[in-house]
Amino acid sequence: MRSIIIKTLALGFLLILILTSIVLTRTLLVSRHVHELPEPPVKPAALVSQASTQKIIHRFSQAIQFPTVSTWSDSDFKGEPFQQLHRHIDRSFPAIANALNKEIINQHSIVYTWQGSDPTLKPLLLLNHLDVVPVAPNNIKQWHYPPFSGAIADGYVWGRGTLDDKNGVMALLEAVEILINAGFKPTRSIYIALGHDEEIGGVQGAMAMAKHFKSQGIQFEYLLDEGGTIIKDDILPDVTDPVAMVGISQKGYTTLRLSLTGESGHSSVPPRHTVIGELSQIITQLENSPMEIDLSFSSVVLEKITPLTSFNKKLLFSNLWLFRPLVSKVMADNPLTNASIRTTMAVTMINGGIKDNVLPDYAEAIVNFRTMPGVTDQDLIQYIHQAAQHDGLTIDIVTTKPSSGISSATATGFKAIEKTLLEIKQDPHLVISPFLFMAATDATHYEDISDNQYRFLAVTINAADKDRFHGLNERIAIDEYLNIIWFYHQLIKNSQ
Ligand SMILES: [Zn+2]
Repeated sequence: MRSIIIKTLALGFLLILILTSIVLTRTLLVSRHVHELPEPPVKPAALVSQASTQKIIHRFSQAIQFPTVSTWSDSDFKGEPFQQLHRHIDRSFPAIANALNKEIINQHSIVYTWQGSDPTLKPLLLLNHLDVVPVAPNNIKQWHYPPFSGAIADGYVWGRGTLDDKNGVMALLEAVEILINAGFKPTRSIYIALGHDEEIGGVQGAMAMAKHFKSQGIQFEYLLDEGGTIIKDDILPDVTDPVAMVGISQKGYTTLRLSLTGESGHSSVPPRHTVIGELSQIITQLENSPMEIDLSFSSVVLEKITPLTSFNKKLLFSNLWLFRPLVSKVMADNPLTNASIRTTMAVTMINGGIKDNVLPDYAEAIVNFRTMPGVTDQDLIQYIHQAAQHDGLTIDIVTTKPSSGISSATATGFKAIEKTLLEIKQDPHLVISPFLFMAATDATHYEDISDNQYRFLAVTINAADKDRFHGLNERIAIDEYLNIIWFYHQLIKNSQ
């Protein structure tokens, strides 16, 4: 008997020893990936000379001054600022006006075509949008500079659209202008599509432009839209070094209506639960049993950032085979990381009852889901029925937009983005990670006419600036803006 106990203890001890050494070895083997650096490219003269960069910054500042605001109600929409921006673009980029074909779609969106010399190559599509979100009137006083001033101060350009997304629009056009003036002629055709209603879904702009391309039978090699950025300073917990986050997929968006009907009557003799009470129970049940975790996207990001993290995190992340449940739990506890590992659900509206002394005969809740790639509306409905366990529950689809496909992280487009970043940053340790983008951009509308779709804008965002997207005191550092121009300049060259 004693010898069995000793043997069991010894075996247990041995197992722990083996496990510990595997875990430690895997942790200690984590090392930063070292890229082979491409030759540093020569910076275009326009980005070096003081006089030219001043003009570039000034043109950008002016673009910010047109309040091209997207509004949900048609009656609030003002077209004139868009026309002013169009004229500003025409005046600013004479070489583009001369060399590229320009088409206007639905009055305010712009498509440029830069014909390549080799028609056998699939074209490249570069997207950005002309519109911006409104400025909340109640906090306008908290802006250091008026939101449509385009103020140039303290090393920044300030105003609505400096991060989202007139930086992309103007930097892209500056890059093309520089290339044309330098005598560059593309072999692969390049299309530029500038939407005017991205912030409200892109139906008039991107959707119409996609239709326009489709009617001509154009299939793109890849498209690049706004989306991820280069982030640093602990935006990812515990990671201070820059990480370029390139979106290769996008979550879907489905809104469902959950409703119950019951017997109306006088509230003096109520049943134990009214339909409102029953619906509340269903909501609680759903919130308490969230949809299952899918680490497939996050594990790619984790693998990329693990070398940049502390020893403890290295230990966890490099041993997902053992710590997957723990890592999942930690990620699920933070709303931001939770959204990256599962289909999320938010009950956003609720309605029921007509009078304080009348039993409600109807109650409904509006529930917004952000779906992981592969999750269908049918999956959502099945999940709700399983979690709610209520025979009387009716589920209707209010709106639905499936998640995007998953673009290749090894195809031509991704490689061109990677090479361009390394050329410009000249940092052999730069981490470039594919990731799942949470929000929807114009790229959504081009899903079936582009083999691959990447969501990335080459601006570095630190912790101090991350809340300025759609927020207060939106601004961009002047050097960052010039870097975006350089990025597009090199990307176009690298995509030939
Ligand atoms: Zn945007």
